[in-house]
Amino acid sequence: MVQPKYKRVLIKLSGEALAGDRGVGIDIKTVQEMAKEIAEVHASGIQIALVIGGGNLWRGEPAAEAGMDRVQADYTGMLGTVMNALVMADSLQQEGVDTRVQTAIAMHNVAEPYIRGRALRHLEKNRVVIFGAGIGSPYFSTDTTAALRAAEIEADAILMAKNGVDGVYNDDPRKNADAVKFDELTHGEVIKRGLKIMDATASAISMDNDIDLVVFNMNEPGNIKRVVLGEQIGTTVSNKA
Ligand code: UDP
Repeated sequence: MVQPKYKRVLIKLSGEALAGDRGVGIDIKTVQEMAKEIAEVHASGIQIALVIGGGNLWRGEPAAEAGMDRVQADYTGMLGTVMNALVMADSLQQEGVDTRVQTAIAMHNVAEPYIRGRALRHLEKNRVVIFGAGIGSPYFSTDTTAALRAAEIEADAILMAKNGVDGVYNDDPRKNADAVKFDELTHGEVIKRGLKIMDATASAISMDNDIDLVVFNMNEPGNIKRVVLGEQIGTTVSNKA
């Protein structure tokens, strides 16, 4: 058997990945398909933590631009990520994967509070841990959450699953047919060039903690496994020049 490149990964799914063709909301069939793929990778002995965004349900910034108080809007967004986490946890459980949801905003009746030591113990016991409610603070994103939690649990890599985009380009491939894809980049280059992969805070955390980031297309079945096995797909961002 091929030895996996990464032993402990944090997978970041955007909320939109859960919406399927509908683009908004949660499409349960789509979540079930994703859970199947995650379960398969997990069965090969990889420790997996998940951060799921909330953009399929709500985003704080546009709500604030429309006149809502930003902090309230962001708390609303964080609650959306918990809905996504619960649905994904259910789908993973149904695939036979022991799963725990930990939230950064305490809600004891539905999930565990985020406790790093417990999260590590779950991972060691082969449970998938889903981190909900972002980092628990407004003005942050779930990309930053992914980078922060990846650093805290000492993940080998963040697997950033994108919806229909197969890596990082020098321009938007949906708008510019001549856009060129990078196979490899450094975190420093991403920050310097202002490439829009994750926000700058998330890039800085990944750089400071030497965490690889692999950006790849989630819509192609089998891609998570390919990344974990070290196949060159998507774009790898690291500190190696
Ligand atoms: N959010 C927040 N703090 C966090 C994480 C998320 O305030 O630590 C809010 C913010 O309003 C954001 C929303 O939750 O717009 C949904 O998260 P995000 O936009 O990162 O989701 P994604 O784009 O990955 O689906």
